[in-house]
Amino acid sequence: MTFNDFNLKKEILKRLEEIGFEKPSPIQEKAIPVVLQGKDIVAQAQTGTGKTAAFGLPILNMLEKGQKALIITPTRELAIQVSEEIFRFGKHLGIHTATVYGGSSYSRQINHIKNSEVIVATPGRLIDLLSSGKIDIAPEYVVLDEADEMLDMGFLDDIKEIFKYVPSNRQTLLFSATMPKPILSLAKTILKDPEFIQITKKEVTNENIKEYFYVIDEHERNDALIRLIDYKQPNKAIVFCRTKKDVDTVADFLSGVGFDAKGLHGDMDQRKREEVIKGFKGNRIEILVATDVAARGLDVNDVTHVFNYHLPLDPESYVHRIGRTGRAGKEGMAISLVTPHEFRALSKIQKISKIELKEVPTLQDVKNT
Ligand code: ADP
Ligand code: MG
Repeated sequence: MTFNDFNLKKEILKRLEEIGFEKPSPIQEKAIPVVLQGKDIVAQAQTGTGKTAAFGLPILNMLEKGQKALIITPTRELAIQVSEEIFRFGKHLGIHTATVYGGSSYSRQINHIKNSEVIVATPGRLIDLLSSGKIDIAPEYVVLDEADEMLDMGFLDDIKEIFKYVPSNRQTLLFSATMPKPILSLAKTILKDPEFIQITKKEVTNENIKEYFYVIDEHERNDALIRLIDYKQPNKAIVFCRTKKDVDTVADFLSGVGFDAKGLHGDMDQRKREEVIKGFKGNRIEILVATDVAARGLDVNDVTHVFNYHLPLDPESYVHRIGRTGRAGKEGMAISLVTPHEFRALSKIQKISKIELKEVPTLQDVKNT
């Protein structure tokens, strides 16, 4: 199947060719035709499988002059990312996108909203603008992107509130990496007779992520991490920690021994976070040290290695974490440090992944590479 099979506008097809999208991903293949028919959908596919284009392309194709699309994302980082991606797809259509999130100027955002066909917003700022009457929009298309994260972050009531402000004669699309019950109930209240689309794990080729676990003692974490980084020579790596405090400590420690490492977590101010993400995308930062929340959904295509400094507490986070590598068909490696205390978490993860246990390389191994 190719993008030509969807009868998309020539401006979109030309653009897809220019940006190197050769063929639709499984979720795109299933979702695009249904969205083009005007139906509401609930779509589930893992992180990194191209969900943005699965809603972005058909919406761009359908948007008529004077119409608006509203896309709601859980975090500002994702809002920026989705906005950039849609803008990129819509280049030859002359589409404008407005990115709306807390912490930046109201007046500029309000102007952008007026002048843009596509609005990408986080829930908090959007409610703020809608409830104070600062903006009045009637979008024909509404997307809830990364809905599971939105619920994890406690935005359920905000989302329900937002839907009070948008007209009911709209097309609504809900996208999510996982489909817990609360999302299905939410879908019932805001979608009309939706079609359910699901890409199960087997259909996504996650074969390109190699997973290893190294069993260590607690006091060896830092040493093991450095040895593994030396040994594997990542081009671009994310080190996951459980807490913000660990992020700071590990980032400091890695920079202290000479790596280009920076931390990313929710307590940092927004400018700083954006700067770090930009640096990581632009290869000025080699190792990003992050919490789950800070890094989920982050779209950096060429991450070669994911290191779990600690195992996450739940298997789902593990899947999210390792999904940061092996994206867009590239090879990736996920390496976890595990102490005997973490064996219970490990056994839960082992049920859903295809991991191999390994010994930490010795100093000699490291020197030999
Ligand atoms: P998700 O929302 O499912 O996590 P994204 O929409 O962020 O995934 O897409 C992940 C990456 O894959 C992005 O960099 C995107 O540009 C790229 N991508 C998406 N669809 C295709 C495609 N059909 N061909 C090539 N690259 C694609
Ligand atoms: Mg996404």
